[in-house]
Amino acid sequence: MFKKILIANRGEIACRVAATAARMAIRTVAVYSDADAGAKHVQACDEAVHIGASAPKDSYLRWEKIIEVALATGAQAIHPGYGFLSENEAFARACATAGLVFIGPPASAILAMGLKAESKQLMEKAGVPLVPGYHGSGQGIALLQSEADAMGYPVLIKASAGGGGKGMRAVDRSEDFADALVSCKREAINSFGDDAVLIEKYVQRPRHIEIQVFGDTQGNYVYLFERDCSVQRRHQKVLEEAPAPGMTQAMREQMGAAAVAAARAVNYVGAGTVEFIVEQKPDGSMSFFFMEMNTRLQVEHPVTEAITGLDLVEWQLRVAAGEPLPLQQSELKINGHAIEARICAETPDNNFLPATGTLHVYGLPPCTSFALANQGVRVDSGVRQGDTISPFYDSMVAKLIVHGSTREEALARMDAALMQTHIVGLATNVQFLRHVVNSESFATAQLDTALIPREATVLFNQDKVGLPLAAAALVAHTLDQEAQKVLTAQRADAQGWIDPWAQRDSWRSHGATLRSFSAVYQEQPELLQLTRAHTKGLQVQVQGVTAPLQFERLHGSALDITLGDQRIQAQVYDHGEVLHVFTPLGATTITRVDALAHAGDTQGEAGRLTAPMPGKVVSFSVKAGDAVKKGQPLAIMDAMKMEHTIAAPSDGVVAELLFAPGDQVTEGAELLRLELAQTAAA
Ligand code: ADP
Ligand code: ADP
Ligand code: MG
Repeated sequence: MFKKILIANRGEIACRVAATAARMAIRTVAVYSDADAGAKHVQACDEAVHIGASAPKDSYLRWEKIIEVALATGAQAIHPGYGFLSENEAFARACATAGLVFIGPPASAILAMGLKAESKQLMEKAGVPLVPGYHGSGQGIALLQSEADAMGYPVLIKASAGGGGKGMRAVDRSEDFADALVSCKREAINSFGDDAVLIEKYVQRPRHIEIQVFGDTQGNYVYLFERDCSVQRRHQKVLEEAPAPGMTQAMREQMGAAAVAAARAVNYVGAGTVEFIVEQKPDGSMSFFFMEMNTRLQVEHPVTEAITGLDLVEWQLRVAAGEPLPLQQSELKINGHAIEARICAETPDNNFLPATGTLHVYGLPPCTSFALANQGVRVDSGVRQGDTISPFYDSMVAKLIVHGSTREEALARMDAALMQTHIVGLATNVQFLRHVVNSESFATAQLDTALIPREATVLFNQDKVGLPLAAAALVAHTLDQEAQKVLTAQRADAQGWIDPWAQRDSWRSHGATLRSFSAVYQEQPELLQLTRAHTKGLQVQVQGVTAPLQFERLHGSALDITLGDQRIQAQVYDHGEVLHVFTPLGATTITRVDALAHAGDTQGEAGRLTAPMPGKVVSFSVKAGDAVKKGQPLAIMDAMKMEHTIAAPSDGVVAELLFAPGDQVTEGAELLRLELAQTAAA
């Protein structure tokens, strides 16, 4: 076995590989870019070498430099992870030339599977079923059009060199074909430097089912069953599971045999994935067709680990070191069901636009084990609280993997794990994933690649918390913090009892006391009223509806809240003026526009209006000298690709604008100054 390996990757996969290496007493060398100087993967390895600037082409794609580092540090082998150099045939060859083991297939297998059209021709010879289509070398427009017309619409045009869904165009009618072809070729040349295309019959209600294969240098092959990756957005996977719902033993064996035949046809060694597209016929039967082979470890490999109880990175290392496969086909068994969710920094409600930012809060569900989910929860992540998701690399923050004895159990565990994932500081798809997991289609395993568009009405623009609960959380959190502050001060003074409620000049000592909170919820200004009657306790009034409120701080950020007859546990985190509220129902934000805190607590800072997060000033709706009413929008900020309205905390006059539209501002930067009018309560 190797004594030392270099990991030519970053993020969660670099950490993942390092963990197995550590378990096997193999020393590890990390490489890192400027942006990753303090990254988790650097700490996860025994040593680390800086290889260049932040852009991938200046660091993680510099393969000559990486080989140099491997030789200088005495590493015997290089694990490429996924993405970056993992499917780079020239890199695999250069490793061999330098006397290093590339932990992956032979360069010839990467080359053979690298182009979709060529690999299809190979697969046809090996007897692997293909989607009906055209994958010839002739690329004339008239030829391609006549091939498409002959197979019948709809068809799918793919870039032969493609990956990541790029260039793919579905065409419904012959008259649209030429335009789609031009646009596919344009994207293909830009992305891959190669505009060759192939055409496939567009499979209706398709499922994406892939087979994990493994080969060793002795010519042995096994398949480690299937993964269903049908739930996709923009042709990219979001949720993956194993085994595939509805899979029969007969079909599994046929697909496994086809995948092994595909691997054998290219003398494959190591971990690979054969992707199939599965057609679901009206009578419930399924047929499968080869799509492509990914010649690397896949992002979603943990679901296979969970159901087989194996560590695929360990297998990769053993095979690369020349050992035979640890198990034979007859020794492999499926145990239970596993699901993976990819947590990405993105805005699902805004066409999944990627987001960047700092992980101010990064709360994850408790994990039961690292390598295998084993009836529990596993988190693979390459970041820690305080780290930044930068624009240089992909937007994946973490992978949540759950395992259960049945799909139903795994689903429930996934929902709970997502509920316990609290991220503040950047937009993520966590709540969206919860909606998908709970959608009718996903819950009942009606899986196909159109699941997300089909369930759109329950997936997008959902706020399951609602204003009354968000308001209750705001009031409870604020009162609790104020009480904590008073208690701390009291302890410091070691003086007698001070009534925390008496600390605010807004409270009246007789009858029903009253305090108002200004807030912004879903971009609407809201006024929350709090009354306290001697007999009835606290009452919150929102939009004219009054309900009794009780609350108790449980621990850390957790509050037990009872509003009317609804009792709920909420975790509330402050992020500037925005409160992030996580509940079992879902998560939401409510912005506190606390005029009193500004006017009262921080003397000399009256009317200070700050940016809740780093971003860009879009516009001011006021100018110096304008009189404004409480709750009136003053400025709009664009942060993390979302707009935020900054509203007046109370009546007043605008003294000064401190930025101009278009300016970039840091978190907490003062945007404008307000001269506050005397507040009614003061
Ligand atoms: P996979 O097939 O491994 O699940 P996808 O098909 O979703 O990956 O992604 C398509 C391409 O993008 C692949 O080439 C993969 O290597 C790359 N990729 C996907 N996710 C990431 C990630 N988080 N980091 C780096 N590369 C990624
Ligand atoms: P990439 O290399 O970009 O991952 P793939 O060929 O693997 O491209 O296809 C990506 C996704 O596109 C599949 O998972 C599937 O959702 C969809 N797709 C691919 N081929 C077809 C087809 N013939 N009919 C319908 N959908 C398809
Ligand atoms: Mg693919």
